[in-house]
Amino acid sequence: MSQHFYLTPAAQEGVAAQVRELATFRSGVLSQKELTGLYKSNPEAAIFHKAACYITGRLPISTRAGHKQVKCRGTGWVNAGLTLSPHKEAGNFLVGRHTLCQWSTKGCRIPCVGTAGRGSMDLSKLSRIARTLALAYNEEIFVNAVATEIVAASKLAGKSGLLLAYRTNLASDLTWLAHDIAQLAKTASPYPITFYDYTKNQDPFLLGRSLYVTRAHSHHNMKKTERLLPLGLPISVVFDITKHQPLPTTWMGSPVIDGVHHDLWFLDAEPYLDADKTVIVGLRLIGSEHKKNIARAGLLAVQPAC
Ligand code: SF4
Repeated sequence: MSQHFYLTPAAQEGVAAQVRELATFRSGVLSQKELTGLYKSNPEAAIFHKAACYITGRLPISTRAGHKQVKCRGTGWVNAGLTLSPHKEAGNFLVGRHTLCQWSTKGCRIPCVGTAGRGSMDLSKLSRIARTLALAYNEEIFVNAVATEIVAASKLAGKSGLLLAYRTNLASDLTWLAHDIAQLAKTASPYPITFYDYTKNQDPFLLGRSLYVTRAHSHHNMKKTERLLPLGLPISVVFDITKHQPLPTTWMGSPVIDGVHHDLWFLDAEPYLDADKTVIVGLRLIGSEHKKNIARAGLLAVQPAC
């Protein structure tokens, strides 16, 4: 497995020093309170410490309690995912200020799903950046650790008669990572696992049913969306409607399913995909009026009648 992106020399040494500390048990894992305090006085030290905790297996890497994830309770599914840093949030620590969202636009970066709501809190940001640093520190260790967590979660779910769904890019857009993790975990788990994701990559690549991927539409890429529409793929569209307004039933001639209610949109998409029909995963424009205006100006959100 080769590295896709790298830490700067200073960040590599910062994380390595913390990994050595943890390995020799000279220091333990900081509590949330200690970490919050350290983040306020010395953000880099807090980030390096948490990245080292992920690398050494002292903390779980996957996240399980997102708002939409909680909504999955009662569906017979449990879901979990991986929250990395969107775009260049971790850029100061990465060679070439590497982006984790190569297809992102200004219109999606500011109202980004990854930094909205709870994601705007200090501890969430610290954890996102630390996970990203852990991935850049050693991709092989990181991917194996995440796959191991997923296999364990699938066994736990399976023993309770539940199914596991996993979203690798909760706040990033690394399709190669989703693919690598899915391949490893699926090979190792005796229970079925569904991997699903969103991407802004508009190339009509097909990863097969082992990985459901919906491509995000914006008016900037209308031509690309038009090329995708006949291909029988899921496409996500953000509609400029309030939470009290219903989603449209069709968009550009394709049926719209509800991607807002919970995160398991692939369940409703399956009958359409089985029939090779394109399906629109309908989302609502959320966030403050300021963020909504940026999304509108960036042509991210569409009117239902489009
Ligand atoms: S591509 Fe997705 S995760 Fe990345 S900045 Fe845009 S909305 Fe956020």
